[in-house]
Amino acid sequence: MQNTTEINTNQNTPTMKATKIAVALGDGIGPEIMKTALKILDAAGARIEPEFIDVGEQVYLNGNTAGITKEAWNTIHRNKIILKAPITTPQGKGYKSLNVTLRKSLGLFANIRPVIAMDPYVTTGHPKMDVVIVRENEEDLYAGIEHQQTQDVVQCLKLITRPGSEKIIRYAFEYARIYGRKKVTCMVKDNIMKLTDGLFHKVFDEIAQEYPEIESETQIIDIGAARLATYPERYDVVVTSNLYGDIISDIVAEIAGSVGLAGSANIGKEVAMFEAIHGSAPDIAGKSIANPSALINASVMMLAHIGQADIADKIKNAWLKTIEDGMHTADIFKEGWSAKKVSTTEFGDAVISRLGQTPKTLPVSHLAKGNETIKIPEYIRKTQTKELVGVDVFIDWSGSDPNVIGNKLNTLESDGWKLKMITNRGVKVFPDGLEHTYCTDHWRCRFVSEHTDTKASPPLYKLVTRNKLIQLLSDLYKNEFDVIKTENLYEFDGKRGFSLGQGE
Ligand code: NAD
Repeated sequence: MQNTTEINTNQNTPTMKATKIAVALGDGIGPEIMKTALKILDAAGARIEPEFIDVGEQVYLNGNTAGITKEAWNTIHRNKIILKAPITTPQGKGYKSLNVTLRKSLGLFANIRPVIAMDPYVTTGHPKMDVVIVRENEEDLYAGIEHQQTQDVVQCLKLITRPGSEKIIRYAFEYARIYGRKKVTCMVKDNIMKLTDGLFHKVFDEIAQEYPEIESETQIIDIGAARLATYPERYDVVVTSNLYGDIISDIVAEIAGSVGLAGSANIGKEVAMFEAIHGSAPDIAGKSIANPSALINASVMMLAHIGQADIADKIKNAWLKTIEDGMHTADIFKEGWSAKKVSTTEFGDAVISRLGQTPKTLPVSHLAKGNETIKIPEYIRKTQTKELVGVDVFIDWSGSDPNVIGNKLNTLESDGWKLKMITNRGVKVFPDGLEHTYCTDHWRCRFVSEHTDTKASPPLYKLVTRNKLIQLLSDLYKNEFDVIKTENLYEFDGKRGFSLGQGE
């Protein structure tokens, strides 16, 4: 049997024991909205025991560059569930983003953001939208591996992994299954990034097959994002990698008119964190006018996650009814339309007085209909053969004519190698480049075995040895080429594990 990691979500079996949760009051409007959310949780009978943790602005200003105390870490490790109000990251260099620290150190691989239109109570051009964005949270360009390689060129590594892709894509399908969603859309850019986004797409196709009852489709991110902004009602669950997910989750929240209303969950193997998507709004802090809805919705997601979906529904339905009844905080208040402009605390009391009621026109929340847990199998690495067939040598050279560096490299006598091509910013410039291609000081020179049949299509690569590789590098340095990095070219199970140059 495969090992599985159980990610407890939407358990229907009521756990009578109170769940201890780590609660961060946050900065700016944080304490106001958190106190309101906790008051509602208490009134609804949520079986939770908050333990307050010290994170945020004051911790930063006390000289802790991570913004989180050791005691807070201990509470998080003990309780494994965090409800967090927004915090203020002080301006200036040296302060690390607490959210990034928490996501990375706790392995919070999935960011879940459900966004639903609240028409006609909250203005939106898309009254039927009801979308959940499932964003990969740990890898992609956000691994933060960047280098300046030459005077003119910097790079950022985009890392997409099979285990990371499997985990997030399976989570999206399991979420769809448990929450009764009908379709999962994958968004990638694999027409350009054939290996990285190609892997994400491939894993999506593999996992989709295991869920025949759920419709699946893949879209290229550019047109996908455009359609999501124009016809969001056509989407249900969308799964994507970190950067695209970051962008489209803000797009959907914005077009729903609900940036101030949406909550989000960051889910890991053991720990999960729930928060509002907005910031600490220092401009309105201390005035009791902030809308606590996003944190209320985050609390609802938390309750469903810890097996209290019945209480989650009770709060969600009371909240929907409050919005329907026109009890609106200043940010969504409309003269002549809303019934009353309420303060943060009045809004909380309005929700409490509606506990047990359901909305009349907005869709009633039914989180409690599922009683399963999301199971993510442990990743099992399959053994593949890996063979070295060449090397891309990146050279810093300030000349502009590719033929000069190409001919010089061609005269280099390094046993067993031949220069296959040179590209500049991915475009082939040697041999037979186009004179109009602009060249920077960053030259990627592809060397393969002299026995490789480069004319065949696809080329038939021959193996090279590591010793030959060392010899090539030594010959290049001896001839005063400024090698700035190398990327080995491999075949995995006989399949090319590197991209071709544009025009190759
Ligand atoms: P913000 O979301 O705090 O505010 C943007 C605008 O929206 C402001 O006009 C604010 O008044 C309004 N707003 C936000 N939440 C509201 C609410 N609940 N009710 C009514 N109005 C609301 O974004 P910002 O101004 O860019 O950032 C302020 C601070 O928050 C910064 O220090 C930033 O680093 C931090 N921040 C924290 C988080 C987090 O902790 N997860 C997320 C984003 C920003």
